[in-house]
Amino acid sequence: MSRIAFLGLGHMGLPMATNLVKAGHEVQGFDPVPAAVDAARAAGIPIAASGADAAADADVVITMFPAGRHVLDAYRGGLLAAARPGTLFIESSTIAVDEARAAHALALAAGHRNIDAPVSGGVVGAENGTLAFMVGGSDEDFAAALPLLEAMGKRIVHCGGSGLGQAAKVCNNMVLAVSQIAVAEAFVLGERLGLEHQALFDVVSQASGQCWSITTNCPVPGPVPTSPANRDYQPGFAGALMAKDLGLALQAIEQTSTDARMGRLAQQLYAAYAAGDGAGRDFSGIITDIRDSAPR
Ligand code: NAD
Repeated sequence: MSRIAFLGLGHMGLPMATNLVKAGHEVQGFDPVPAAVDAARAAGIPIAASGADAAADADVVITMFPAGRHVLDAYRGGLLAAARPGTLFIESSTIAVDEARAAHALALAAGHRNIDAPVSGGVVGAENGTLAFMVGGSDEDFAAALPLLEAMGKRIVHCGGSGLGQAAKVCNNMVLAVSQIAVAEAFVLGERLGLEHQALFDVVSQASGQCWSITTNCPVPGPVPTSPANRDYQPGFAGALMAKDLGLALQAIEQTSTDARMGRLAQQLYAAYAAGDGAGRDFSGIITDIRDSAPR
């Protein structure tokens, strides 16, 4: 049993914290948003007066914040100073690789331990305890965190040293973005060639074009009844989040001078999608933009 400070009780953080409580850990939460606090209390999670207060009592501090600046502000703004020496900081927000490494350096300089452990699997994965964790950090810190990550997730991969969990996350989501666009383009092209959606699905889902973007997140209604296309593209994984993750990918592409033309193009297309009506829609709804951008 660990004493855990869980900071950031939003869409992802609250169900993750709830699964830690179910696994028998002593959890104290904190979030500055009153509605998040009310929902956490209703779920049976005790709330501290501040993040620093929660951290002062904890063996492990988990952060699940919107973006990197929130993490660095919190680490610099008293969280690290409040914790007892040797506290393990698990940073699970999706942030830039260099922000994760900066957070790691701050934690170590303050006498603590730190891993980056971003997730994929969305709110449903968080609720069901089936998240995938991609971890960057030392072998010892990974081993210490593993029982907690196993209470919240199903697939946990140690990707290497600090920042490499975030590196794996950004690479995965770049693949996902490019493949979702490719599948959408194929359906629109098929429509214009007179191909039924179901026929194209039956071929591609069993052939060399097979990928999650068609078998699970099929962007047209019908072939996969549970895909967001069947509920007017209610997420799922919202366009705003995909645009955010591709912004982090672009940052990494530029910092490493990588020739990632498809990744760059996907970033542009999803930035435009999120700036239009796509921010709150599933990212597979980009098929509508593709269809409308060149009407017949
Ligand atoms: P969210 O906005 O619902 O929740 C974030 C919470 O952090 C908010 O309630 C906010 O008030 C709180 N917060 C901000 N600063 C804080 C501080 N200093 N102390 C305590 N709480 C603070 O976001 P979310 O959807 O839960 O996503 C969290 C992270 O997980 C993001 O980095 C996101 O990119 C990533 N992620 C989200 C999904 C998803 O499907 N929602 C999937 C994978 C990864």
